[in-house]
Amino acid sequence: MEERLERLLKERFGRGIDNCTKIEIFDALMEITKEELNSRPRIQGKKKLYYISAEFLIGKLLSNNLINLGLYGQVEETLEKHKISLSEIEEMELEPSLGNGGLGRLAACFLDSIATLGLPGDGVGLNYHFGLFRQEFFHNKQKEVKNPWISQRSWLEKQPESFRVPFKHFTLRSELYDIVVPGYENGCNRLHLFDLDTVDETMVGNENINFQKENIRKNLTLFLYPDDSDVQGQLLRIYQQYFMVSNAAQLILKECQEKGLDLHRLNDYVVIQINDTHPSLVIPELIRLLQERGFTMDEAIRVVEKTCAYTNHTILAEALEKWQISYLEQVVPHLLPIIRELDARVKARYSDPRVQIIDETQRVHMAHMDIHYGFSVNGVAALHTEILKNSELKPFYDIYPEKFNNKTNGITFRRWLKYCNPQLAALVERLAGKDVWKDSSQLERLLEYRKDKKVLDQLEKIKRDNKKKLCRYLYETQNLSVSPDSIFDIQIKRLHEYKRQQLNALYVIHKYLEIKNGKKPQRPVTVLFGGKAAPAYTIAKDIIHLILCLQQLLEADPEVSPWFRVAMVENYNVTRASKLIPAADISQQISLASKEASGTGNMKFMLNGAVTLGTEDGANVEIRDLVGEDNIYIFGKKPAEVIRLYDEKGYNPRRYYENDPQIRELVDFIISEEVMRLGDPVCLERLHHELVSKDWFMTLLDLEEYIKVRDQVYRDYENRDAWNEKALVNIAKAGFFSSDRTIAEYNRDIWHLG
Ligand SMILES: *Cc1c(COP(=O)(O)O)cnc(C)c1O
Repeated sequence: MEERLERLLKERFGRGIDNCTKIEIFDALMEITKEELNSRPRIQGKKKLYYISAEFLIGKLLSNNLINLGLYGQVEETLEKHKISLSEIEEMELEPSLGNGGLGRLAACFLDSIATLGLPGDGVGLNYHFGLFRQEFFHNKQKEVKNPWISQRSWLEKQPESFRVPFKHFTLRSELYDIVVPGYENGCNRLHLFDLDTVDETMVGNENINFQKENIRKNLTLFLYPDDSDVQGQLLRIYQQYFMVSNAAQLILKECQEKGLDLHRLNDYVVIQINDTHPSLVIPELIRLLQERGFTMDEAIRVVEKTCAYTNHTILAEALEKWQISYLEQVVPHLLPIIRELDARVKARYSDPRVQIIDETQRVHMAHMDIHYGFSVNGVAALHTEILKNSELKPFYDIYPEKFNNKTNGITFRRWLKYCNPQLAALVERLAGKDVWKDSSQLERLLEYRKDKKVLDQLEKIKRDNKKKLCRYLYETQNLSVSPDSIFDIQIKRLHEYKRQQLNALYVIHKYLEIKNGKKPQRPVTVLFGGKAAPAYTIAKDIIHLILCLQQLLEADPEVSPWFRVAMVENYNVTRASKLIPAADISQQISLASKEASGTGNMKFMLNGAVTLGTEDGANVEIRDLVGEDNIYIFGKKPAEVIRLYDEKGYNPRRYYENDPQIRELVDFIISEEVMRLGDPVCLERLHHELVSKDWFMTLLDLEEYIKVRDQVYRDYENRDAWNEKALVNIAKAGFFSSDRTIAEYNRDIWHLG
């Protein structure tokens, strides 16, 4: 490796390692890695998966590619000889921001596992030039700026494929860029990202993310929509979605025709996984393309419905995509006869208005189309799938019980342990064997050591080392100083009312007031937040504002700051996640029960030895069932109670606010003089009003119990041996949450590849 790197650096820059800049070394390593990627075999098989997703939050690739190629150690050693650390070099890589959060990160973990299991399966998506916005803080508020991530040398490789995509008034010609996806010690698949060569990056200024929405040719793949749980009816979004699926469908048919396959048996050779409803138009588009190839409507529908499978990611009604027919008419009029036919066939068989594709108000329900014309519908955690079957999608479950199945989400352990927490990874390898990276169930072997004081002390030391590293990073990048001797209590995820960062913030207020009243905690605590809010999501941005004001208030208070500090990490992304998670003691997973479909952050924390403080929601339920009540802290109303409260409109926050003086004190602190002085009264008053008069996600309902349980968590932390044992049990039981397990189940129950 050393020779190869030296030779390449000489060739490219005329200098050896010792005289090259970090960026030059990064460039050379990328080139070597790409050569290796392209020399590895493509994974082949009779049947191939196409995982279509509007988002792939892949993170930086250099280290993970090296790990999967088995070259990480060699490269690290070579650089070390020259007193260079691979992590410094890695800082040169820009993170592609092709996702909002969990849904996009899931797609990235899945690609890793699909290749690792040796299954033929490619991702298909869009190459957003600026991806999601970058978050900056300015005057205690979120500011959105563009995030150009495509640099001169990039993992993207231009492909010869190009397809014509017809819209109402014009036809666009696509371009294709691929990113190679290596399996861990296995062959490669690909991520196909479609783009347009007419896109004009100069449409966007430097100071904001505004751009002209009309000129589709120039803007189609500029940005990823910054919304993962709310949908606004935006034409551009329909343009993007159709552009993505038309390209996907044409690519699929082209690959089949090149192999000389009989398209009437498409489902023997192809399976399409539709990741949430963003790619749902692939169903009518495939039907249209098959008709162009001589299929009758009946024939086309018959084969498409055996080829497509749908994953549901949300139970928030407002997040289910419904497009006005008039919008579709403006963008893709040629799909409407097909969508109307699909709808007519449903109406002929079922009179229930809840299962129609086109409703009385002339909106097309994308999920309904997927369920009727796909062969599989899966939820992403056990609880989530049960809620789909028994309430959200019950009318569909009554019709098609055989289509419904659960696939509890997972994460790739190569990135979320081996790469991000090398010390813990080494300990785990030593205790559980090197096989853990391919067989995550081996982690259970750690349970033998749950009473082993030496191992528990090692865990504690590793956690402390990771905290120190994080402290250095936070200081260098954001000028935040926090103490590695404090408890690290972390909530990092997209900002959304249902995820209830506001509940965490109210606890911070509680602790602040307690310390001001003379009650100091036993040990300092550092509360870290991270997460972006959608630019149009006012209340989410108000919550960020509150957190940043509290950060400033606590920081400036010498009575409080030695004991309790809060900080919000700017621009939360995969890179930051992989630095924060290994340092966490406590994982905050406090969504309103029944609202978080699964969560995957919860799994990353668990794998890295943090203990969960969470509600009975999403995959938290499965974490609890695995680790047992002693190794997790669960609080709050249960999902069934919450669902009942919604059904009966039985929750009124004002009752809690008026009847409980403690709650009132905490909520009113948001508009206290201390905070108002630091912030924007309009934002703070709006948030206060929202909590008292609406509180749609029932923050005040769970507040009292949350405070009680969180105080208990801090007390339990003081019994260091018992705490470290909890951490060990969490790590040992995390094997179930490997995305290798998830993908093996998708393949066993849905895809049936090779
Ligand atoms: C894992 C991950 C998420 C998802 O976190 P949740 O807590 O499950 O919502 C979001 N963003 C990034 C960058 C992640 O790595």
